[in-house]
Amino acid sequence: MHAAAKVIVGKHGGRFPSTVETLLPLPGIGRYTAAAIASIAFGEPVAVVDGNVERVLRRVSGERLAGEALWTAANDLLDANCPGDFNQAMMELGAVVCTPRAPACLTCPLIEPCATRGELAATEKPPPQKKREIHYALHYRNGDGRDREVFLVQRARAESLMAGMWELPGLPGMNGGVAPLFTVRHSITTTDYTVRVWCGAQQSNLDGKWIPVERLPKIALTGLTRKILSRADLL
Ligand code: SF4
Repeated sequence: MHAAAKVIVGKHGGRFPSTVETLLPLPGIGRYTAAAIASIAFGEPVAVVDGNVERVLRRVSGERLAGEALWTAANDLLDANCPGDFNQAMMELGAVVCTPRAPACLTCPLIEPCATRGELAATEKPPPQKKREIHYALHYRNGDGRDREVFLVQRARAESLMAGMWELPGLPGMNGGVAPLFTVRHSITTTDYTVRVWCGAQQSNLDGKWIPVERLPKIALTGLTRKILSRADLL
């Protein structure tokens, strides 16, 4: 939030961006957050898709929509005159009426057009969690006689997740009989990650920055990066 606030002051003269296009480049603002702010606070006609909206859309359409198809379906349904109210209603509908295990179809305002009326939920099995192993390099050094510094890279502004946030540099698969510094587990949506953290691994020509340890609490770090830095007693 602090990193985003600095961009708003520096690049937007202190005026909060009001469209998805101008919100997305802010650190920590992804597609969902940008759409929610733009539609609810500024009335931009863009749909929001979160987990609750996904479930409603799948049940209403009777199709196992995923990825971009969900955003398209949500935008097709959107009331462009009241996008903020519509988006909040869809999220609330999924949270309190079209719930995962017991959709209250008899009280649902979408019962007429709904293709499944709960049937999809009855047969729906949660997708199995995928397993992935990923690797990160933890480089730190003593900076100018002061505190230690950690080398971090910034995620691209165009990323759909955690855009503009800072993280450790990723590495390709490591082997060769050397043990990692430590391993942490981390889950994001449907994937369980085994995260190997390597110290002193080969540094490629990355476009990153050495960040003093004392500044780490003030910058926008990904959740996984916070977990790793905490485990390394750097945060
Ligand atoms: S009718 Fe039932 S399944 Fe369909 S959207 Fe409403 S609560 Fe969900």
